[in-house]
Amino acid sequence: MSNITKSYSQKKVLISRLKTGDDLINAITKIAVDQKIEIAIFSGIGALSKAVFSYYNQDTKEYQNIPCNDHCEIISLMGNISLKDNSPICHGHIGLGDDKGKAFGGHLVEGCKIFACELTITILEGEPLHRGFDDITGLPLWDR
Ligand code: ZN
Repeated sequence: MSNITKSYSQKKVLISRLKTGDDLINAITKIAVDQKIEIAIFSGIGALSKAVFSYYNQDTKEYQNIPCNDHCEIISLMGNISLKDNSPICHGHIGLGDDKGKAFGGHLVEGCKIFACELTITILEGEPLHRGFDDITGLPLWDR
């Protein structure tokens, strides 16, 4: 498999204040579905009242969820929206910080409860990327 590279221009930028108490990845996915987004990048900052993120074990090819039941800052949230089975799918990574300023984080999964979040979605113009199962990594990577 060679690199897959596509070229885009910026179509529209959405800036959202997400609702307190909602689940972070579900809130982003809902915007993507409602706005019929096929290809976009996103970033965000804010805080969570609790978090779950994930680490992909490359040996077992399984995600290991890491819960954090304390309040934390969203130092950095970034990701992309593309298509899987012709529906929008969000892939995000999140960097969090605790009350000592220590940082941790990983792959964004369900279970992050929003305290506050300011989200920026940059919708792109161009042919969308599609995810399909990749045998080598065991991940749903872009294949076309
Ligand atoms: Zn990931």
